[in-house]
Amino acid sequence: MKLSLPKYYNRRIARAIAEFDLIEEGDNILVGFSGGKDSGFLLYALKAFQQSMSINFNISAITIDLEFNKDADFSQMKGYCKSLDIPYQIVKSNISKIILAEETKNPCAKCAYFRKGIISNYMQEKGFNKVAYGHHYDDIVETFLMSIIYSGQIKTFQAKSYLSNSDIYVIRPLLYLREENIIKAEEFTGYKAVKSSCPYDGETKREEIKNLIKSFDHKNQIFYNLAAAMREGTPINLLPKELSRDKIRDKMKKLWY
Ligand code: SF4
Repeated sequence: MKLSLPKYYNRRIARAIAEFDLIEEGDNILVGFSGGKDSGFLLYALKAFQQSMSINFNISAITIDLEFNKDADFSQMKGYCKSLDIPYQIVKSNISKIILAEETKNPCAKCAYFRKGIISNYMQEKGFNKVAYGHHYDDIVETFLMSIIYSGQIKTFQAKSYLSNSDIYVIRPLLYLREENIIKAEEFTGYKAVKSSCPYDGETKREEIKNLIKSFDHKNQIFYNLAAAMREGTPINLLPKELSRDKIRDKMKKLWY
């Protein structure tokens, strides 16, 4: 079936693909399919691009079953991948057991860490060279702010990053789409997100930051200022690197003793 992607979506995804060299001839791309709206839309969009681009690449999807719900039903996700003619694999894991057993302050970071490990092993075993995630513009700006607030570091998700340990690339083709665009995309993809059975869903630090940005950003100006601030090349005027205690002591000695 020939898929069509409205111009608005097509332009933004095409820009990301070209600007960051996200897709190249012969790529074997694995899509992390959580069942949510973002990865559901990403599968549709990549399939549409596979049909329209002049280079050849493969797409497959994977779901890591976190086992928060033993009776989880994956039939809708299987049916969706089948309708898009995308090979689909579910891989079982005991991530929920680890997260629920430990009183961890940041379950999502742990969950992401274990999922990445499982995905990279799977990719090496099956010969995939890129993994695509459905992170969008809102995710990237929220991550930027979270990183400053919770870890004191200026960083965010990259459009494309190379993981040298496993020799794979991580790509994020939805980088230039806002979350509201992806919610609206259900009108043409027909994909309805599967509800997460994770007890932390909707109660994460990301959710807090999302609500914080919304609470003071009625005209979207603050969102786009944050987006501009996370770009390399933006004027930066930071304090110099902190001196060691010894150096500070030496300087003080000269001034006071
Ligand atoms: S909300 Fe649940 S499933 Fe999602 S990253 Fe956090 S722990 Fe994992």
